[in-house]
Amino acid sequence: MELLIAGGCLEHGRNCFYVRGREVSFLVDAGIMKENPDTPYPELTKDQIQDAAYLFLTHCHSDHTGAVKWLYDQGFHGEVIASAPTFAWMKDAVPGRTLESMSVPGKKCKVDDHLKMTWGRSGHCIGSVWYLFRLDGRKILFTGDYQEHSGAYKCDRIRDLSADLALVDTAYGTESGTAGDYRKDFEGSMDRLVKTNRPYLFPVPSHGRGLDVLRALSEREIPIYMEDAIISECLETPDREFWLRKKFRGSFGNSEVHTMEELGQLMEETGGLSFLELPIGILVQDSQLIRQENRDLTAAVIKAGGRVVLTGKQDPASFSRDLLSRGDAVFWKISVHQNADEALKLKHKNRFRFMIPCHCRKKLDFKERDILTVRTGNLVKF
Ligand SMILES: [Zn+2]
Ligand SMILES: [Zn+2]
Repeated sequence: MELLIAGGCLEHGRNCFYVRGREVSFLVDAGIMKENPDTPYPELTKDQIQDAAYLFLTHCHSDHTGAVKWLYDQGFHGEVIASAPTFAWMKDAVPGRTLESMSVPGKKCKVDDHLKMTWGRSGHCIGSVWYLFRLDGRKILFTGDYQEHSGAYKCDRIRDLSADLALVDTAYGTESGTAGDYRKDFEGSMDRLVKTNRPYLFPVPSHGRGLDVLRALSEREIPIYMEDAIISECLETPDREFWLRKKFRGSFGNSEVHTMEELGQLMEETGGLSFLELPIGILVQDSQLIRQENRDLTAAVIKAGGRVVLTGKQDPASFSRDLLSRGDAVFWKISVHQNADEALKLKHKNRFRFMIPCHCRKKLDFKERDILTVRTGNLVKF
């Protein structure tokens, strides 16, 4: 059996893997690499694309689904398989089969006469999953973007699984903090926030860390102002009990929730948020602060003595990164991936014959010889 790394190893973006078996070939993810416009799409030939019987998607983010339309343009005619929220939230609407209609987490199911599959929730966002495939007497695991310690999202922890090859999220590479460390810092910062009477602006991506921020604000009963898109993500998600942790669902609703129009009224009443009686949390779905209205809001928050709080990756040359380097924003990280230590721990809790760290730009220096360093374009036989 062969695995072609079509994207996502020793680079960031365009996650895409091509598995070739004796009878069946399939793809896992088809992402786009935004930061490199010369090579945005996975490295696949038309023949490979047209040979793929399936495209399994791990979650809706564009570094995993942004090239789906491009695949169709290249002649893809296989079946797309993904969770219902991934189908609902990926940029290009495509037909396909939902995982929820095939099996439940942890239970093996038959995709066709040759290919069997088990899936589980990966704790990264609503609808994010990992996959274990069985084909031609071999097993291959894809963790997808994976984090066991999210405060918002459920994760079916990968334990005691055996796989010939495991592709494991290691996006945070050599960063030293674990999810637990970041979580503790984040909660400590939130505990300090609650004692102030300042506005805190959280620019968050769509479908990701925003719900973790909401949970932390809700647990402390801090009034929240947020865009309709985030409100609907919380309240109108299909099967929210299935994807969201009970603790999150329990705390949501402790805070008063207001719209952005109401924030406008509050700004008029309080001299641009300068005379608040309580702290408030403002959430906008614009993690890099691209939209002018959010840049204006940033200025108002800073003027009122509040903080812009970034919780994840800032793109090079983005407004968010500028703010941070000027000292006008703070970074309270929320972990949605794993670092190298966490990936190694996952390996030790399972039986992987070989492991491939993925999603990291840098070459990582693992001592264990069954951890393979591969890059986009490489072919792995197993
Ligand atoms: Zn992701
Ligand atoms: Zn990703």
